[in-house]
Amino acid sequence: KTIRLGIISALNEEQQGLVEAMESPHKLSHGMRDYTQGTLWGIDAVCVLSRIGKVAAAMTASILVEKFGVTHIVFTGVAGSADSGVRVGDIVVGESLVQHDMDATPLFPRFEVPLTGLSRFLSDSTMSEQLSVSCRDFLESDFHDAISVTEAKEFGITRPQSHRGQIGSGDQFISSRIHLGQLKEALPDLLAVEMEGAAVAQVCFELGIPFTVMRTISDNANEAAALDFMRFVQAVASRYAFFVVKRLCAR
Ligand code: SAH
Repeated sequence: KTIRLGIISALNEEQQGLVEAMESPHKLSHGMRDYTQGTLWGIDAVCVLSRIGKVAAAMTASILVEKFGVTHIVFTGVAGSADSGVRVGDIVVGESLVQHDMDATPLFPRFEVPLTGLSRFLSDSTMSEQLSVSCRDFLESDFHDAISVTEAKEFGITRPQSHRGQIGSGDQFISSRIHLGQLKEALPDLLAVEMEGAAVAQVCFELGIPFTVMRTISDNANEAAALDFMRFVQAVASRYAFFVVKRLCAR
């Protein structure tokens, strides 16, 4: 059973450095995306940028499996916090993923993906455990190699934590306290909001591919989110991905 790991991010800033770290990289363009296959710290891997949103992410995950033969998928990117205990600079590993904008009521319950009977998709428990441990080790041991004291201060990151739980995905950038509050009322366990994870989750569920999602919190999904998000992805996002994936590949 040889492993081939697919690594997806929506934006270049969320994955920068990983392609550069690949040994014997091979680039192949397909369906308007560049897929780079190579070896990452001893692991056969394929890196790709999906661009933003559920359709883009679903397309990318499908191609990774069907054309590039990946056996496992990890999504790494940033997200807005959906819980007061989850702060900018923290990491959330997705255990269950919900398409929070799915609503075919009254035909189906809210959030249920019609004709699947499912309103959430579970990530692979082994991969999520390995990813969580990698995140914790990163935050405990190499955080200061990744992020300078000045940068940590600028973003107000003190004692960053790693969490596990529910992530919501929708084709909406959430930048309103009211909007987030409404979502949270319907999905009280929500820890983070983003735009791709639950789409990858559905594809992986349907194709029988183990997957997991890691999200670094870039903003609080409120009125300040757009500005916080932009500064954070440029300055910090790719460093988290690099160090965590490096540790994950070593496991
Ligand atoms: N204006 C930005 C749009 C980024 S969309 C641009 O021009 O690039 C935000 C991306 O980061 C998505 O890929 C999503 O998964 C994630 N994300 C971060 N914060 C988010 C939030 N508050 N709501 C939804 N997605 C968020």
